Amino acid sequence: MEVSAVIGSGIGGLAAALRLKHKGFDVKVFEQSDIPGGKIGEHKNKGYRFDTGPSLFTLPALLFELFELFGKNAADYIEVVDLPVTCNYFFPDGSNLKAWSDHDKFVQEAVNSGVDRQALENYLEKQKFLYNFTSEFFLFNSIHKISTYVGEAGQKSLRALHKLDAFTSMNKRNESVFGKGNLTQLFNRYATYNGSDPYRAPATLNMIAHLEHNTGAYFPKNGMRGIVEALVKLAHEVGVEFHLGEGVKSIQQQIDSSWNVITDKQIYTAGIVVNNTDVTYFYKNILPDAGMHRKLMKRERSSSALIFYWGVNYASELDVHNILFSNNYKAEFEGLFKHKLFANDLTVYIFISKKVVESDAPAGKENWFVMVNAPENVGQNWQQQSEKARQIIVAKINKMLNIDIEKHIESESVMTPVDIESRTTSVNGSLYGHSSNSPMAAFLRHPNFSRKYKNLYFVGGSVHPGGGIPLCLASAKIVGKSLSH
Ligand SMILES: Cc1cc2nc3c(=O)[nH]c(=O)nc-3n(C[C@H](O)[C@H](O)[C@H](O)COP(=O)(O)OP(=O)(O)OC[C@H]3O[C@@H](n4cnc5c(N)ncnc54)[C@H](O)[C@@H]3O)c2cc1C
Repeated sequence: MEVSAVIGSGIGGLAAALRLKHKGFDVKVFEQSDIPGGKIGEHKNKGYRFDTGPSLFTLPALLFELFELFGKNAADYIEVVDLPVTCNYFFPDGSNLKAWSDHDKFVQEAVNSGVDRQALENYLEKQKFLYNFTSEFFLFNSIHKISTYVGEAGQKSLRALHKLDAFTSMNKRNESVFGKGNLTQLFNRYATYNGSDPYRAPATLNMIAHLEHNTGAYFPKNGMRGIVEALVKLAHEVGVEFHLGEGVKSIQQQIDSSWNVITDKQIYTAGIVVNNTDVTYFYKNILPDAGMHRKLMKRERSSSALIFYWGVNYASELDVHNILFSNNYKAEFEGLFKHKLFANDLTVYIFISKKVVESDAPAGKENWFVMVNAPENVGQNWQQQSEKARQIIVAKINKMLNIDIEKHIESESVMTPVDIESRTTSVNGSLYGHSSNSPMAAFLRHPNFSRKYKNLYFVGGSVHPGGGIPLCLASAKIVGKSLSH
C-alpha cells in the first residue's frame, strides 16, 4: 500500500486523511500539537467548557459524506441539531431582529421591522441563484485546471458570469436593495465569514447568506469539538495512523518523485504529501521557497479574532449566536484592514453553546464566547488593544442588553491573534488565510495541488476554495478527486 503523509490535523487534514484512506492509501497524519483538530479547539475552565474556534456550522452534508464513504452512519458518530434561530441581531438604533432559519418566519420578522417583503424575497432568491451557479465550479472543483472550465459546472458558471455580481462590492449591492438600513449591516456581515471587508469584497460573496437563510444553521449536540472527535474516531476505525506531538520540519522530494518527510522525531518516506498547514507558513518553513513565500506575503491576509471566554453566573435570554452591531461598520473595517487597529466601536459576537449543550456550564450559568473581529497580527501592542476592545465590549453589552455584565463574569480566558498564530501556525493569526477583498481573490488562492512538484497536494483554509469548515471539507474533496489512485 502506498504511503501518504498528511501534515496537520485541522478539519481539512482530517478530511483529506479519510479521503486518502478511502482511495486505498496507508495514511499517516503528522500533527505538531498533542491534540488533533487545529482551530476547532476546546477549553475548560472552572466548570465551563468552551469551543475556542469555529461556532457556526453550515452544510453538514459535507461532513456526513466522509462517514458515508466508509458505509457508516454519521448519526452514530455525531448528532446535529437544526437551530431555529440562526442569529439574534441587536442594532445600534435599539431594535432587535431574530434571523429565523424558517424562510417565511425570517421574512415576516424583517417585514415587521419595516423591510420591503418583495425586495427581501428577491434578494434571497438572488443569493440562491449565486450559490447554485457558482458552488459546483468554485467550491467543489479545482479552478486551476482547464478541465474544470470546459466541464459542465464551469460552463454553467461562465454562462451566468454577467449575473455573478463580481464587480460591485457586497455593501454597494446590499445598499442598492436595503438602503443604509439594518438589513444592509446584517447582510454585509457575511463578508466576515471568510475574514473579508464588505466594502471591498465582491458582491458574489453575498451568496454566503444563502447558506444560513435558505439552507439553515446547525449545531453538534456535544459542541463544535464533537466534529473533530467524530472524525478522529472514524479515522482510527478505518486505520489512519496519527502521529500527535510530531511536527514536520521539512519535506524533500526524491528522484522517483516520492517524498522524505522529516519530523522532529524521524524520517518517513511517502508517495504523496498533503499539506494542511497555512500555505504561506509551508513555503517558509516546510518546503522553503523564497519566491513563493514573498508572493503569498504580498497578498492581503484575512482578519483575525480576539475572543474572551467568560463563565457567566446568570442565565440570559440570548440565543446560541448573537450579534451586537457597532455604530459605524465602515470605520470598523477600516480599522481591521487599513489601520490594523481596533476602531472606537466594535461589533460584538456572543456565542453560547450551553443553549444546546446543557453540560457546558453549571446550572443557571452560561459559557459566553465573546468575540470581535481583529486585524491580522503585525506586531501591534495586543495587551493595549485587548484592553481597549474589552472596554468597548463591556460597555456595548451593558447598553444593548441592559445588564452589568462585569458583575456576572466569574471566569475569564482570552485568545488573541498571536495565540491563534502560535497554536496553529496560521500566519499573522489570520483565520482564513488570504482575504477575499478583490474580484480576483478566488482565482489567486493557492491551488489544491502543486504546479512545481509532483505528488504534493494542499488542503485547508489557506488554499482553494477558502476558509471555514465547509470550504476546508470541500478542499479535501477536490484533492480526493484529483488523485488517480
Ligand atoms: C476564533 C475562530 C472562529 C472561527 N469561526 C468559524 C465559524 O464560525 N465557522 C467556520 O466554518 N469557520 C470558522 N473559523 C475558521 C475555521 O476554524 C478554519 O477555517 C478551519 O478550522 C481551518 O482548518 P484547516 O484545515 O485549515 O486547519 P487548521 O485548523 O488551521 O489546522 C492546521 C493544523 O496544522 C498543524 N500544524 C501546523 N504546523 C505544523 C507542522 N509543522 N507539522 C505538523 N502539524 C502542523 C496545526 O497544529 C493545526 O492542527 C474560525 C476560526 C477561528 C480561529
